[in-house]
Amino acid sequence: MGFSEFNLIERFFVRDNPQRRDVVLGIGDDCALLKVPEGQSLAVSMDTLVEGVHFLHDTAAADVAAKAMAVNLSDLAAIGAEPAWVTLSLSIPKIDLGWLQAFSDSFHEMLNHYVLQVVGGDTTRGPLSITMQAHGFVPSNVALRRSGAKAGDLVCVTGPLGDACLGLKVAQHKLAAPGNLRDYLLGKYYRPKPKVAAGIVLRSRATSAIDVSDGLVADLGHICKASGVGAVITAENIPLSEAAKSVTTEERVLDCALTGGDDYELCFTVAEDDLRNVKAALETVGVPCYPVGRITGKSGVRVTHHGKTLELDRVGFDHFAAA
Ligand code: ADP
Ligand code: MG
Repeated sequence: MGFSEFNLIERFFVRDNPQRRDVVLGIGDDCALLKVPEGQSLAVSMDTLVEGVHFLHDTAAADVAAKAMAVNLSDLAAIGAEPAWVTLSLSIPKIDLGWLQAFSDSFHEMLNHYVLQVVGGDTTRGPLSITMQAHGFVPSNVALRRSGAKAGDLVCVTGPLGDACLGLKVAQHKLAAPGNLRDYLLGKYYRPKPKVAAGIVLRSRATSAIDVSDGLVADLGHICKASGVGAVITAENIPLSEAAKSVTTEERVLDCALTGGDDYELCFTVAEDDLRNVKAALETVGVPCYPVGRITGKSGVRVTHHGKTLELDRVGFDHFAAA
């Protein structure tokens, strides 16, 4: 990006973030040199956030950085990996020092929080877009794949669903919410908390896992497809927050939970006999466990609500409400 690229990288991205012992050579050379611990696999995930597509035009730089990091760490969580390094590719339309300062402050705060090191990246001029890649470690025999669900397993989630989708509606001024509820919902949308510790706890305990980024139906659908099974979701068992229920109808919250996105909770399957142990294990890291359905032998994801089957389509909120 011209002569000031190096100053920019020095100023904003080479900072006092943790120097990890597994980083032989960090930012500043043609490549980073990294050491993966003996006996572990390197888990790698990448996500791109494009302004206007994945985040609203007026999103604060600090929120953009936090979200880019969170969505990547959520993928590591979903496979049971312990995060270690990130790389960052930043495309910016112009050098806006205020934006870069806020973005990199938030980015480094996340790095420190998760004891991660940024080990490289790229900086170009172009439409605002952030690509982040997260790297973590997991012993390959205990990685949480999408493909291990078995008929009879319980389907569980780690927290309330639907909040982030309502938070987006609040941000878009499509939904009104009073003060503290508004802050809560916006927080769930802009600052999802990746369930990293939960993913590690679920290693070798869950039979499959995924993070909920596109709504429970779609994401559980990925587990089912990869595992060659189907599932029934019992909608009345889906955890919904008090905040969500107090700003709109339960049907609308459920619709968000089922077909909205951005919650970044984990959805996983466990053998019924293991549920108690899994619950207790998750409790040790302060994460709840809500059974919301069951894996079946018949393909596809079905949703029942108090015994009645719901017909779902992504745009059909009214359709859903009438069911
Ligand atoms: P090259 O031309 O070899 O790709 P660059 O000039 O793009 O090198 O980058 C120089 C160094 O700075 C490299 O170590 C690269 O990984 C790092 N880097 C560039 N942009 C970023 C960024 N946005 N965040 C973190 N590191 C970066
Ligand atoms: Mg480069």
